[in-house]
Amino acid sequence: MGRIESYSSLSTLASCAQKYAYGYVDRLERTDINLPLVNGSAMHEAFRVMYEGGWDPEKYEEARGVLRKAWGDIRPPLGAKKHAHLTVEYAELRLLRYVQERVENPTILERGEVLPSFTEKLHTFKWTLGGETVEIRGAPDLLVKGKDGKLYVVDHKFPTSSWITDYYWLKYSLGFQLRIYSAMVEEILGVEVAGTLINAVCCNDKGADPPEAWKKRSSVPSSVRLISFTRDRIEEAHAWVRGNLMLRDACETSGLWPRNELACDDYGGCEFLPLCLAVADHDRDLLKTTRYQMKEERRDEAEDEG
Ligand code: SF4
Repeated sequence: MGRIESYSSLSTLASCAQKYAYGYVDRLERTDINLPLVNGSAMHEAFRVMYEGGWDPEKYEEARGVLRKAWGDIRPPLGAKKHAHLTVEYAELRLLRYVQERVENPTILERGEVLPSFTEKLHTFKWTLGGETVEIRGAPDLLVKGKDGKLYVVDHKFPTSSWITDYYWLKYSLGFQLRIYSAMVEEILGVEVAGTLINAVCCNDKGADPPEAWKKRSSVPSSVRLISFTRDRIEEAHAWVRGNLMLRDACETSGLWPRNELACDDYGGCEFLPLCLAVADHDRDLLKTTRYQMKEERRDEAEDEG
């Protein structure tokens, strides 16, 4: 107990308490490469450069250098079928296409004023409602003031398997992450937030295709979508956080972390499945030392940002 949770850790707990225990109590992660995470982290670094102090397409070369450095020498494993397109060359081209897309069709992110004081940092805030206080951390990507003078919280997304369609947006209008970010900005800065902007950049295996290829598709290469929440729906997120903190404390006190087999297939499969399938404790302990390692703090933050 006492750990300050993020949206990512709480949503993991909400889906499967055992998964939370492996990932956030034991702090285990697979030793093999998580290419979507590498792509998301490197793109975030490049986007920081592109938007820092205001959008500037002239910064592409600088952003490309930052992206390349963040990516390092990671390559898809030989024979990889899933996410084999995620190489540093793909990411560079994807970034270039993105810059071209936004030069041609600027959005509020490129036209508005990027406020530097709040973004690019991991924030912790205390959120009190109905006499109940919860503490939670998170790292919104940008805070933008539109031409209408209103403030918007921005979160970049880099889906590596999905297309950006109407269905893609649905989960964000139902999810709690953006509601928590809205409350966080309002609480910390004491200003009203008009809504949340999701900046989605398609990074699937066709994501870096040229503009001609996209003309034949029903999805788009990148898009910004405004998602606004009523006060009731933001307050619902507070109840969600409280409920999950109570669950965490109950699990921690009892030492019981229930498994939810309905979550094993989520997002392409749970990384802890081998541990759950191990029959004997000594097999599980052996797996923990051979196929997993302790998670680094930096990586934890990247997940929160993702
Ligand atoms: S494999 Fe399934 S039951 Fe086990 S931690 Fe993952 S989601 Fe939970």
